[in-house]
Amino acid sequence: MRSPRRENTPPAPERRIDRRELLRSAARGAAAAALAVVGLVLARRHSGLSGQDCVNQSICRGCPVVGGCGLPQALSFRRVTGEGDHGG
Ligand code: SF4
Repeated sequence: MRSPRRENTPPAPERRIDRRELLRSAARGAAAAALAVVGLVLARRHSGLSGQDCVNQSICRGCPVVGGCGLPQALSFRRVTGEGDHGG
């Protein structure tokens, strides 16, 4: 005679499929979260919201960090002058 608990338990193959679906869903969720984080980081970099502050009163010529600065005025300065693009 079977116990009532076993009658409510789905057969093993269905349980295995459910577990796989759960793992796939978890993997999809993790991938979506990772993509969201990467997108947020890239968006912040391109929007100038990287938390970087100007250290030379926006006078990019001669600024010691002009080569790696991501602020808009530094990007414009490098584009116009070419300074800081190649380490100089
Ligand atoms: S490179 Fe220009 S914007 Fe960047 S910190 Fe120096 S002065 Fe400020």
